[in-house]
Amino acid sequence: MTTTAAAQLQTIATLWPDLDDALGTPVAATWPPAGLRTYLAALEQHDATETAALRMLERSPDQLGARPVPVNLRIMDTMRTVEAALHETADQIASANQHAVETSHPHRWHFTGRPRGAAWTALWLSARADNVFWPGRALTDAQARHLRHVAREALHRVEQALDLAVEQRELDAQHRCPCGGRIVITGGAGDQPTARCRQCGAWWTERGVVAA
Ligand SMILES: [Zn+2]
Repeated sequence: MTTTAAAQLQTIATLWPDLDDALGTPVAATWPPAGLRTYLAALEQHDATETAALRMLERSPDQLGARPVPVNLRIMDTMRTVEAALHETADQIASANQHAVETSHPHRWHFTGRPRGAAWTALWLSARADNVFWPGRALTDAQARHLRHVAREALHRVEQALDLAVEQRELDAQHRCPCGGRIVITGGAGDQPTARCRQCGAWWTERGVVAA
């Protein structure tokens, strides 16, 4: 894909409300697909339980029970990771390039005070990538390169979380084809997910074996 960092960051801002929606929704696991999901159910359950246990350890006691609705941990992880990456990158750019003179320009980055949301930060970074005027210097080549990397990674994570990316995943050794080969599942991005055996080449969909 050859879209610019500016365009990718705008897409992130556009998709952010979808992440908000998905956060409180029970896992609508379209990927892996329903038929193949049973294959993975035990695995996913184990992962979710373990992650939840780790989260409990991270929280301070007064936060316990603060959220009555179970949240989608995968979405929450994505939102936290992407938001942190965007904020960090904006902080870096602003601390290096922003003019010290106080102005009320709307594109001025504020390090303190009310934290900006991820969508706003994505748009702010998009403007920096596009070299939109602001009270600061243009990005250096190294900064632009770093921002391209951040934008690409962040958009990939968002797309993955929203099941918009083409995914491929190899099942672990416990879930093998009858022939003993390892199974690879491919799906996402609206495509019919399929599973394929690396060894015998059998492939099947939710509806059953297609070819063996
Ligand atoms: Zn096989």
